[in-house]
Amino acid sequence: MNLHPFESPTFEMACRQFDLVADVLEIPEAMRDRLKMPKRAMTVTMPVRMDDGRVQVFVGHRVQHHLTLGPTKGGVRFHPEVTLGEVAALAMWMSWKCALVGLPYGGAKGGVACDPRQLSRGELERLTRRYTQELIPVIGPQVDIPAPDVGSDEQVMAWMMDTYSSQVGHAVPGVVTGKPVLLGGSLGRREATGRGVAYLVSRAFDTLGLPMQGARAVVQGYGNVGSVAAAAMADHGLKVIAVADVSGAIHDERGLDLKALDAHVAKTGSVLGFAGAQAMDPAAMLELPCEVLVPAAMERQITEHNAGRIACRILAEGANGPTTPKADEILSQRPEIFVIPDILCNSGGVIVSYFEWVQDLQSFFWTQGEVMDRLYRLLEQAFVQTLELSRRRHLSMRLAALSLGVGRVHEAKLRRGLYP
Ligand code: NAD
Repeated sequence: MNLHPFESPTFEMACRQFDLVADVLEIPEAMRDRLKMPKRAMTVTMPVRMDDGRVQVFVGHRVQHHLTLGPTKGGVRFHPEVTLGEVAALAMWMSWKCALVGLPYGGAKGGVACDPRQLSRGELERLTRRYTQELIPVIGPQVDIPAPDVGSDEQVMAWMMDTYSSQVGHAVPGVVTGKPVLLGGSLGRREATGRGVAYLVSRAFDTLGLPMQGARAVVQGYGNVGSVAAAAMADHGLKVIAVADVSGAIHDERGLDLKALDAHVAKTGSVLGFAGAQAMDPAAMLELPCEVLVPAAMERQITEHNAGRIACRILAEGANGPTTPKADEILSQRPEIFVIPDILCNSGGVIVSYFEWVQDLQSFFWTQGEVMDRLYRLLEQAFVQTLELSRRRHLSMRLAALSLGVGRVHEAKLRRGLYP
């Protein structure tokens, strides 16, 4: 099938992964496009009044990948390079991720092409509210539930919730997740993705029979996922020796003082210039010898150009789609590297988003302990199932995780049948 209008390197990558899994699962040709192609996509243009009085038009998207198992769920990305194809790929991965961990959702994703760091708070609020307004016909607690992703945060979710609620006429906390706790957010949601990454890293150490104490970790991306994963891995005894954000990378073989680094980032907005650490080339950082490498920034960072040189024992994919299919081919010749694939590794975020939605629908809130216990139980189950399938069928961890996710959506579509 012609991929248009989703054509983009990231969508092609998601399709390539799907095709490999469809072969493993022997899904009939006639079912493949039905499973793969997004169900709905919406592109909107949004005129926004800027602080200097100009009106600037932004382009935004929302893609809902499948509606077979319940409402759709997925983050909202504010980033200059957002395209419809990228959003569609991210929505597809959300579908397989939700099915892998057993959540009653289809995948979705949204995005606006903008640089939130160049917008004032007022401009960001007006853009967020305008985007939400445009999405009102296609979102809702039983329809599609946005959440934070790159460039958006709790405050953005609060504005989305407020805009939607103002239209409906009463507070609707269940329309978004990742909100402030005061507005119906869940305890533990902000930390869920990063802590989930660290939990699965600890399970990978157990599986490999390696000690965690003093092991070295390298983290690319120091936002919500990367910074929390770094702190949680340090709690497990790891030493974080290098981190990068969009402005550059820093390195200290003795281990970075993460509390001091967080204070530096809060003050300056960047990891660069952190006292005691050396600046280094961000591309070379990915090739530092370490036990754990956590890409937690953007897609397509581990490619055919560097996959042969990365020097970790565990590749823990905090980001969505950080490794290209060509890099996967190279990694398949490097069995010393244990990959925790993205749809498993970063699933803690959507799991606790699901808990938040359930709490909002019931207006009955859980303790942090209840949230974390339930999170680790679901992660453990998905990790064990993926590892077991990978060993039994001699599949990579990625193909095993995707097979579980795609297989469940396929089965659900067969059970529901084709209407009319
Ligand atoms: P964020 O906006 O909080 O942080 C992104 C970080 O990546 C920032 O530090 C930014 O400076 C850095 N970055 C951007 N481009 C970079 C580059 N080229 N090189 C190095 N660093 C770069 O975003 P986030 O929520 O932490 O999301 C990060 C990744 O995790 C994304 O792939 C996202 O889809 C995925 N993810 C996020 C969640 C969540 O709950 N927030 C859940 C699952 C997956």
